[in-house]
Amino acid sequence: MRLGALEAGGTKMVCAIGDETGKIFEQISIPTRTPEDTIPEIIDYFQKAQIEALGIGCFGPIDPDRQSATYGYITSTPKLAWANFNIVNAFEKALNYPVGFDTDVNGSVLGEVTFGQAKGKSCVVYVTIGTGVGAGIYIEGKLLHGMLHPEAGHVMIQRREGDNYQGKCPYHGTCLEGMAAGPAVEERWGKKAAELKDRKEVWDLEAYYIAQALTGYILTLSPEMIILGGGIMHQEQLFPMIRGYVKEMLGGYIKTEELENMENYIVPASLNDDQGIMGALELGKRALAERK
Ligand code: ADP
Ligand code: ZN
Repeated sequence: MRLGALEAGGTKMVCAIGDETGKIFEQISIPTRTPEDTIPEIIDYFQKAQIEALGIGCFGPIDPDRQSATYGYITSTPKLAWANFNIVNAFEKALNYPVGFDTDVNGSVLGEVTFGQAKGKSCVVYVTIGTGVGAGIYIEGKLLHGMLHPEAGHVMIQRREGDNYQGKCPYHGTCLEGMAAGPAVEERWGKKAAELKDRKEVWDLEAYYIAQALTGYILTLSPEMIILGGGIMHQEQLFPMIRGYVKEMLGGYIKTEELENMENYIVPASLNDDQGIMGALELGKRALAERK
């Protein structure tokens, strides 16, 4: 079955053609400009592709609730050209096949549980730490939406003594995204994150903040695995530091096999940075199954 996948991001739109096994045949990337500018180019790509369904993993906030009047909309995003834009309708109208729709990070966690290292697990959290911080949550075998959808990158964290950085989130200042996303790291230390590789104190502080959020997710959701992706996590030295802080912060309060084997519990993304696009293929497949 030929399926289309769109990973809609604030800076680029990744469009791919693949199949239900997660195989990607081809993909292109289009810079994200305005909807009027960008959407027709994407439609053109998928129109020529002879696919049966399209899955979209989208930056947000979005409305993924099929019962809602604003289902399929990108809602209150700070990227103003895209605020209140009905992205699902734009594709359904032009392409006339089923469209699946969820957050980009729910797409990524779906990719990992369908095709990647989290296959067979029923509670998994995927966190991306890049330009922003976001989390996709797969719980009891389903993508979590609830009231809206998780926005767990914006949980509040405790400032470490000696860190006087004011925080970069326009809504919360010192939430996890405000303190630990790429732009915050770069503003705090005055250099590109990739160029700070050898500064141990940078990554120690970063691990300390990420670990606080993960500890909260562990205690709240009881995930069987936590997967970390995004540009910042290219700093692989973060993984052992994060695991160490999580262990410390949990304080021995809960004891599980997973927590005994932290290197298999808090892990890097497994699909060569294709987890989002592979998850979008699965969203397309599910939309098609629903229509049938
Ligand atoms: P986005 O979040 O926009 O989808 P990324 O996940 O690539 O994109 O995140 C981009 C952020 O990650 C930028 O702030 C960038 O500085 C940071 N970043 C990219 N590569 C690295 C790296 N090798 N080491 C540390 N930070 C990086
Ligand atoms: Zn925030």
